[in-house]
Amino acid sequence: MQPSNSKKLTATNLGFPRIGPARELKWALEGYWAGRLGAEELELKAASLRAARWEVQRKAGIEQIPSGDFSLYDHVLDTALLVGAVPDRFREGIGDTHLDLLFAMARGAVSARGEVAPLEMTKWFDTNYHYLVPELSPRHEFKLFSLKPMEEFKEALQLGIETRPVLLGPVSFLRLSKSTEVRSSTLSLLDRLLPVYGEVLAQLAAAGANWVQFDEPCLAQDVPVELLEGIGSAYAYLRQRVPGIKILVASYFASLGANLGAALALPVDAIHLDVVRGRSDLEPALEQAPDGMVLSLGVVDGRSVWSTDPGPALAILRQAAAKLGPERLLVAPSCSLLHVPVSLGGEDGLDSEMLSWLAFAEEKLAELSLLSRGLDPDIEADPGVESLRQRASSRRDSPRRVNAEVRARLGQITEADLRRPEEAAVRHREWLAERALPPLPTTTIGSFPQRAELRQARAQLRRGEIDEPSYQKVMEDEITRVVRFQEELGLDLLVHGEPERNDMVEYFAELLDGFVTTKLGWVQSYGSRCVKPPIVFGDVSRRAPMTVRWSTFAQSLTPKLVKGMLTGPVTIQQWSFPRDDVPRSQTGFEIALALRDEVADLQAAGIRVIQIDEPAFREAAPLRMADRAEYLRWAIDSFRLAAGGAGRGVQVHTHMCYSEFGDMIEAIAELDADVLYIEAARSGMELLRAFAEVGYPNDVGPGVYDIHSLIPTQAEMAERLRAAAGVIPPERLWANPDCGLKTRGWAEIEPSLRNLVGAARQVAAELQPALAGSR
Ligand code: GLN
Ligand code: ZN
Repeated sequence: MQPSNSKKLTATNLGFPRIGPARELKWALEGYWAGRLGAEELELKAASLRAARWEVQRKAGIEQIPSGDFSLYDHVLDTALLVGAVPDRFREGIGDTHLDLLFAMARGAVSARGEVAPLEMTKWFDTNYHYLVPELSPRHEFKLFSLKPMEEFKEALQLGIETRPVLLGPVSFLRLSKSTEVRSSTLSLLDRLLPVYGEVLAQLAAAGANWVQFDEPCLAQDVPVELLEGIGSAYAYLRQRVPGIKILVASYFASLGANLGAALALPVDAIHLDVVRGRSDLEPALEQAPDGMVLSLGVVDGRSVWSTDPGPALAILRQAAAKLGPERLLVAPSCSLLHVPVSLGGEDGLDSEMLSWLAFAEEKLAELSLLSRGLDPDIEADPGVESLRQRASSRRDSPRRVNAEVRARLGQITEADLRRPEEAAVRHREWLAERALPPLPTTTIGSFPQRAELRQARAQLRRGEIDEPSYQKVMEDEITRVVRFQEELGLDLLVHGEPERNDMVEYFAELLDGFVTTKLGWVQSYGSRCVKPPIVFGDVSRRAPMTVRWSTFAQSLTPKLVKGMLTGPVTIQQWSFPRDDVPRSQTGFEIALALRDEVADLQAAGIRVIQIDEPAFREAAPLRMADRAEYLRWAIDSFRLAAGGAGRGVQVHTHMCYSEFGDMIEAIAELDADVLYIEAARSGMELLRAFAEVGYPNDVGPGVYDIHSLIPTQAEMAERLRAAAGVIPPERLWANPDCGLKTRGWAEIEPSLRNLVGAARQVAAELQPALAGSR
């Protein structure tokens, strides 16, 4: 007989939010960038945040606590610095400290030789977290360039906590990087990179680390066999380089599927499995795990905000323990908790029932600790487990989740609802015949910078310090200003500027039934920027028109056309925390129905162009190709269902940005939007070639200026328009920035947009012969 405490499983965590419960990191970073805070103060603040994070985890009963998962900006960037992947342009005149270099690579800098562009930013797998893309030349010489993992390990040790350092694994690091030369794979640099990782591992061992966690999330994707071979040789090398240290390799966000065998064959001590999204890996892993290998089972969902139903989680742990024995199991979240808010502590705006359904990072730690006692014979009677069970059943049985009217309407959707009245070309000709737009029409993506007064008015309205009419007045004054501004610049298709929106998703979530929003549920998006995703808990429906008032007011001010502006069904759900009790497609169609009614109301109120933004269209796609078709079907159909609210005489436009769209253009074409504004400036219009290749049929507005760069000149934007006109027929080309302007300053957008209008006119004149008669 074993003593009962030997049945206790080990609770672990893969990563914790960095920003702090009140976004302390954000304020510290922004203070430092603005010069209000010195480097030393920033470092102190960061250290106190790290200490607090370790302490909450320790207090919650987590035994293997991560370190090195903290970052001042981004962990991929940290890894680039760790291995000395610093592009040449940052080598001189950037400043002398690591901190200067880090922020220059993240945000760009101005050196004596001019502007130095930052690394490109892109989305981390299927999340809305953005990482910085390391740039590697085929001849890059890696070297140990920072000591961050060792320093943070020692820092925790001094606080009495022996942590498990987390590193982005070498193969995933290379896969997430881009080569500075076309047709050269970054993976070929693996042999050069490994000695640096070996050195880090040796130094961590010397500092006293017993375990190290290597994240290799690329194992959750369809990867070429060379990559699996690369992973095999990487860990064989690291194993042999530092034999004494224990290695955990973690993958998450999807099942390992076909890569499971390769993962279990690695010469490492433990593999982490995301058994929330990759439940199908469990049995094969239990069968195939070699003797002695530990499995870390991610049973607590690190991507959702729902509290864990203990039944299935305990069943998994018992099944695994029966097969492997308790000493070979770790109880973990499915992935790092980076992607959920810190704590429910400040959510005094939510009712107690809703609160009981939720778990943010801190609450998830408590769940992990509880589940680690899952083999205890008395666990079923444990009040903690009982409470979790009761929360799960209260949510499952709650009438708040279901809206019979919405369900009935879902059942009545027909093919015809997904179609616009005419074929695109006919629609377009009809529409254009009525309104004279010049060739290469100019427009913007929707938002304009929000001055402090706007945010203040919103806060005052919420606190009841001003009434609705006074709030409306502030917004209408702003809309008037924005409309006049655009008229003065000579833009062709205007926007109202979105001053009434705190956020393009939260704004709608607040007006829709089936959502709740939080006070402090912030999640890091990139660097100091955080988003506050709403939570979908039930069937979604529209209470009343959401945007008509603002759009019609804007249209009443000008003879030019003003676009109605909506966020699309895929993006609203993707940038919220979704339900886990119905498929994503159902919520997608429900949001689409609400938007469809909004579209119809906008048309009835006289709006003639409606833009439905879908910036998350690519991000929401499953990581595995095999799952993609099913996603695309409902994603496309839900967009079309929303757009189908527009009758004859109305154009539907859309906008997408900051993702790799190259392999999805056919799906984008199926949206059948009359105009697609797509971010393309960063890739130098490269993306458009792919549009030409698939014969993309409708109008395209490639972003001709990267809103994050300094003021673009007329000449450079004209050059991009010419390049675009070389691939997209000029009569189907629009000129616009590559994203909304909300995060920019008025002082920079004025000259930028002036130059944009100038560039469009200039290139239109050059192309006149080709365009004659077509518009
Ligand atoms: N219409 C939105 C805006 O202009 C689109 C933002 C986005 O693509 N993220 O802000
Ligand atoms: Zn955008």
